[in-house]
Amino acid sequence: MKKLIAIAMTAAVFAGCSSDKAGKLSTPNVEDFNYVVEQFADIQILRYRVAGIESLTLQQQELLYYLTEAALQGRDILFDQNGKYNLTIRQLLEAVYSSANVDKNSDDYKALELYLKRVWVSNGIHHHYAGDKFVPGFTQEFFVNSLQALPQEELPLGEGESFDELMAVILPVMFDPSVKPLHKNQAADADLLLTSASNYYEGVTQAEAEAFYNAMKDPNDLEPISYGLTSRLVKKDGIVQEEVYRVGGKYSDALEKVVYWLEKAAAVAENDQQREVIEKLIEFNKSGDLRTFDEYAICWIGDTASRIDFVNGFTETYGDPLGMKASWESLINFKDLEATKRTVIISDNAQWFEDNSPIANEYKKDEVKGVTAKVINAAMMGGDCYPTTPLGINLPNANWIRAAHGSKSVTIENVSEAYSQSVKGTGFNEEFVWGPEELEMLRKYKFLTDNLHTDLHECLGHGSGKLAPGVDPDALKNYGAPIEESRADLFGLYYMADPIMVELGLLPDEEAYKAQYYSYFMNGLMTQTTRIEFGKNIEQTHMRNRQLITSWVLEKGKEDSCVVLQQRDGKTYVVINNYELVRQHLGELLHEIQRIKSTGDFPAAQAMVEKYGIKIEPNLHREILDRYEALKMAPYKGFVNPIYTPYFDNNGTFTGLSIDYTEDYADQHLRYSRDYSPLTKK
Ligand code: ZN
Repeated sequence: MKKLIAIAMTAAVFAGCSSDKAGKLSTPNVEDFNYVVEQFADIQILRYRVAGIESLTLQQQELLYYLTEAALQGRDILFDQNGKYNLTIRQLLEAVYSSANVDKNSDDYKALELYLKRVWVSNGIHHHYAGDKFVPGFTQEFFVNSLQALPQEELPLGEGESFDELMAVILPVMFDPSVKPLHKNQAADADLLLTSASNYYEGVTQAEAEAFYNAMKDPNDLEPISYGLTSRLVKKDGIVQEEVYRVGGKYSDALEKVVYWLEKAAAVAENDQQREVIEKLIEFNKSGDLRTFDEYAICWIGDTASRIDFVNGFTETYGDPLGMKASWESLINFKDLEATKRTVIISDNAQWFEDNSPIANEYKKDEVKGVTAKVINAAMMGGDCYPTTPLGINLPNANWIRAAHGSKSVTIENVSEAYSQSVKGTGFNEEFVWGPEELEMLRKYKFLTDNLHTDLHECLGHGSGKLAPGVDPDALKNYGAPIEESRADLFGLYYMADPIMVELGLLPDEEAYKAQYYSYFMNGLMTQTTRIEFGKNIEQTHMRNRQLITSWVLEKGKEDSCVVLQQRDGKTYVVINNYELVRQHLGELLHEIQRIKSTGDFPAAQAMVEKYGIKIEPNLHREILDRYEALKMAPYKGFVNPIYTPYFDNNGTFTGLSIDYTEDYADQHLRYSRDYSPLTKK
């Protein structure tokens, strides 16, 4: 902790100065680092260590800095995409939160603070994961009175708009539970666009939107653009039309800032390939032409030599009920050279793994090409990657580009480190792990084996095996995803216990894999259901596949008791009695799952997923939820970013970077709203 304060003071003293004292970057030790920022509602806010930042060259530091600025400029875009009034509501809430005229000890104020913190987490007024609208714990009267006490010029009023007019629009959106209750409606019997709160469409019915895009599609086009990816579809004067996200178009004020920083980044790119990537992205932001977007994506896949890499722009389509329109996100990162050695070793031995896999020979690839995945550390998160962030990313999304040019797959090491460190001291493992022997195993090997499992899953698992001739790759339909994720997970689990792991230097000894087996089974059979409301089924693909694998093996184990659920003092635990037998069953399941995939056996896939992957045993679920609740832990995690300060000499030449980890959650968001808010009314 002392070390962190020292770094912060250095930054404060020298910020803005031309100084050769700049650039003294270092990474705090895990033991000294303060991972937990705060916890509220159902979320815990963490910090992440930007490990290894001191190993970047001066030029890389400069590039990193410009990219982090570009990452922060898109925050408002996401708020607006998530709901038409989100930016206005955020401004109103922040105005009351920061007001000197309100009683900060009142229950209403405290409830408003909580509500605002949740809005910051979700980039809007709907829960970031569940999608339901937050219920304000403060009264409408308190909100209106507090706003009225503020100078009018501090309020986000439109041209000629009165306070009462603004309230007439905003209050129902916030306080009436029947107005846009869901961010994204997924119920099949409703118009998905008219019943969803997200702002990708305006005044357009689902049928109109589908007709609009179907008319554009050419079924003979083998290289189709991602139709509608970067635009808002609206009906104006009776005509359905796109508002394209670009400089000079929709979100121009934000995209101009993004382009400004990208141009600076392009000037200090590490190599020509990376410069071309950045320039293509700039070109796309200016034109909005989706052909250019595809050129950019292909160029980005080809940039494997650079140390620094990034995502910046409209990427994932989870927020659109029709799955076409992308939300804005950014992740700035650099390769963890030491950890990436793991993935290189794995990829170099890809053929050996394929040849020795426990699947039928006819489904093995004669020549397997390992995907070169890399391990990265995040340096800045923005848009839809902030403050909740993924553990791994695999892009681009366009199918034809993936087939023709491949994809890049990353594991985010420092995010996974923060997750695992945040569990320490919570009593979670002590509550759910069977005994001291298992606890010690997890303490020693869990982090290592978790990461290795992710590497095996991504580098080899998905790429292994082949379809029988003539089998349609989409034959498993909605069961395809959990079957495929099971396959990749099983591949990793099976090999984790192979002596080759020690031979290749990937694991320190032949006991280490047991930590992965124990934690995987504890998670799959019990603790992952802490994220699911009582009475509900498992919906999320990875959660389905984890339960599928573990409950299938549990059932197999009824004959040999290799793994059992055992009671002690009225509590249920996972006990693994024979790790070798567990491995054997995992191999048998991999054999069967590969057969299902390779032959496109839909009925078998359906039976497997429905029987093992979806339903939760209610008595056990209740018990797990009660035990979890007693620990007072939060099921979701979010992050604060570090602050980077650049240093320049009198000629404007970059001389170094400093990093400060001490900013707290509310301060960060208020600063972002002040300094990185190109779309709000000022
Ligand atoms: Zn996967």
